[in-house]
Amino acid sequence: MEPGSSVTPGDASPDYELLAPIGYANSSRCGYCGTSSRQTKRYSYYATATSLSPQFYQKLIDRCWRRSGTLMYRPNQRQACCPHYTIRLDSSLFKPARDQRQAVNRFNRYILGVQYIKEAARLYPRSRAQTKKRDNEFCLADRIHEAEYSHLKTPPEPAHKLVVTLEEDSFTEEKYAVYDNYQKVVHKETPEDRTRRSFKRFLCNSPLRRQTVTDPDGRKRRLGSFHQCYRIDGDLVAIGVLDLLPDCVSSVYFLYHESIHSLTPGKIGALYEISLAIEEGYRWWYPGFYIHSCPKMRYKIDYTPQFILDPQTLAWDPLDDEVLRLLDRKPFVSLSLEKQAAPEGIANSTDPIAREGISTATPGENDDDDDAGDDDTTTSLFRSDMPGIPSLADMEEVDLDHIPLKIFPSGPLFETSDLVSWDSKTVRDWPSAKASMAELVAALGPDVLDCLCVDSSR
Ligand SMILES: [Zn+2]
Repeated sequence: MEPGSSVTPGDASPDYELLAPIGYANSSRCGYCGTSSRQTKRYSYYATATSLSPQFYQKLIDRCWRRSGTLMYRPNQRQACCPHYTIRLDSSLFKPARDQRQAVNRFNRYILGVQYIKEAARLYPRSRAQTKKRDNEFCLADRIHEAEYSHLKTPPEPAHKLVVTLEEDSFTEEKYAVYDNYQKVVHKETPEDRTRRSFKRFLCNSPLRRQTVTDPDGRKRRLGSFHQCYRIDGDLVAIGVLDLLPDCVSSVYFLYHESIHSLTPGKIGALYEISLAIEEGYRWWYPGFYIHSCPKMRYKIDYTPQFILDPQTLAWDPLDDEVLRLLDRKPFVSLSLEKQAAPEGIANSTDPIAREGISTATPGENDDDDDAGDDDTTTSLFRSDMPGIPSLADMEEVDLDHIPLKIFPSGPLFETSDLVSWDSKTVRDWPSAKASMAELVAALGPDVLDCLCVDSSR
């Protein structure tokens, strides 16, 4: 193992992906449309994860999964008042739009101050070629760091000292203070809801194993869960919670202190994350689930070009006007199914399915905050019509008998066939341990069997 890499403490089998099934269930609330619990349709398959490699989690987010702390879920886009779609930006093709460039310029001007800008221009003049290049192109990876203290020529001193660091996703009181302010001001959460415990559970509790990988060109990259911390004059003012995976920077959450609201911190944070993907070679930026029916989510697609994951085939399609028009017309969109239904071209199809039960009420809840197990409407995943899930017949062909089981925190692993009554059941006997394993493997994808270990030790 490389120096600097680490595994979850106390983990006896670091090579396995440690998960435990929860099941397929509806969530009793939807923070996106604000429907009452009886109308809420937010079905997902849930599991908990104790230890995952970034490589494995990359695979999962490319199969519609996402995590909230250690809770993993894969939403059913067909059974949803507000369907969740996985989208991603190709950072190598990203060109910041006018308002995004302006946000960076405004932010840098605030940090540096007029005095510094004037003085620095006099003391360290740009060459004619440099000035020309700067006027003609906006290089995000250059501009985004322009006001950071470590990039400045001093003297003179800037108006404010900006320091941006990538830190472990551990809990500190300094971070908690920003969380407390953000949840209070932006999400109007009550004091009982914005506890240290909820902050830890939601944003400081990742199952991802942190590691450093060396790319073929010798470049080192960090993988795992991190907090990108923004400090102005020594005060922590914003945190980007990030999962750094082999092929992406995945944005988990972004929070900031109200004192910097006017500096459009959300935009600055997104641009920092995209720049990280460009500079360090992660390539893709995942802004989190996109919910078309939720106006507050639209900002996510202001960064282009983006791609949308087809929930049925798990293939990526350009998130273009054609897809957006389809999403305007109906909640569930799978481009592959559209093409099957209308081989003559999607633009001409006049699918009468109306958007059901979707209001455009402003959500008051966290993006990607999720509660599982708070309701009782569980059913079999195989009776859910969830897109992209193998059928029961498919699962009967998969050998589920030898999945390692971690029953005790330490000591030998067992396997599924050691379970009492394992042999007397089939995957069709729901509920049963065998049916539960079949659901987990179907939701993850049967190709993960080799590295999966079911962890029921916690
Ligand atoms: Zn909803």
